[in-house]
Amino acid sequence: MIIILKSDVDRESPDIQQVLDLAGRYPGVSSRVHVVEGSSRSLIEIYLIGSTAEVPLEPFQELEAVERVVRISEKYRIIGRHKGQVESGGFQYQGVTFDQHTLHVAPGLCAVDTPEHVDQMFAALAAVGIQTSRMGAYKPRTSPYDFQGLGKECLPYVFESAGRHGIKVIAMEITHESQIEEINAALDAAGSPTGVMVQIGTRNAQNFELLKFVGRQQRFPVLFKRGMGITLEESLNACEYVASEGNSRIILCLRGMKTNLGDPHRNFVDFTHVPVVKRLTRMPVCVDPSHSVGSRALAPDGLSDIQHATAQGVIAGANMVLVDFHPEPSKALCDGPQALTLDELGPYLEDIAIVREAYEKRREAARKNTESARSAGA
Ligand code: PEP
Ligand code: MN
Repeated sequence: MIIILKSDVDRESPDIQQVLDLAGRYPGVSSRVHVVEGSSRSLIEIYLIGSTAEVPLEPFQELEAVERVVRISEKYRIIGRHKGQVESGGFQYQGVTFDQHTLHVAPGLCAVDTPEHVDQMFAALAAVGIQTSRMGAYKPRTSPYDFQGLGKECLPYVFESAGRHGIKVIAMEITHESQIEEINAALDAAGSPTGVMVQIGTRNAQNFELLKFVGRQQRFPVLFKRGMGITLEESLNACEYVASEGNSRIILCLRGMKTNLGDPHRNFVDFTHVPVVKRLTRMPVCVDPSHSVGSRALAPDGLSDIQHATAQGVIAGANMVLVDFHPEPSKALCDGPQALTLDELGPYLEDIAIVREAYEKRREAARKNTESARSAGA
């Protein structure tokens, strides 16, 4: 059951305690307070978990601060899009809004290798006004003999350089909970010049203990990458694991599915699922064209397969693009063959802007058509 409070009720309000006290009277019911921060307004929702079947709606509906009470039976209790809820979830982090309406591009290194490459990358982003990036310090690799990432040793210069170039959010994968402590410590030592969005990689999509761990911490939002060989439903349940522990600041990232049917691409591009995830949940949706396509191959029309895959995500309403760039791909220690060069950043962003404009026009046309169909039917 979800109790949605009126939009003027803030986090410190005694009204929240009143709802919690009322919920506390029902045996076997526990409550969790969630703040939903959209681009236009933020709302407080209180989730009643446990044996809620016998809990009546009326006593909650009668409270002054309550806007609506929604009984939910669906499986994605927290991340799901339930009838009567605000239209989109989302959150703000480091002053940046992530929701189902916004679009952020996060280009960066698959794996950090040298301080110079990190600095060149961030400088290139700053030059085009981008504040979101990706940097891998902990790399889960198929072979134990491959480069495993520089780990905590690179964090001080990554964070310092990010702060100097005005990068506000860095997507960074963790493969073990101890790495969050290392990130915490390095950020604190550097004076928190930037923020981190903790990435759960496709290989850990059903590592339930790791999911619960990132759900229990509140400092970092989570970028969850869809499991490469499991159903969408299983991936959404994995996000629910994170949310059910208290952290609902989650972005789901589509990154292609492992199947040889996708050849010659590294993974079979699944970006037609962008609208599906938006319909089933209120999470913002990210696409990762680099790990989907896996190469810099160029189509005869002069656009790369990575650009085409990106466009497929953006035209479908994606809210974030996670993409590998490298100042010198031939020297990259991980995934060099799929990294775009810094010279390609401008054209890449120009292409995204064209597609995003087309998506916005499509959305507007759909809105108008629905409206006129409704007034014709009225
Ligand atoms: C990555 O983004 O660096 C990565 C390893 O991606 P994935 O988990 O999707 O393979
Ligand atoms: Mn990679």
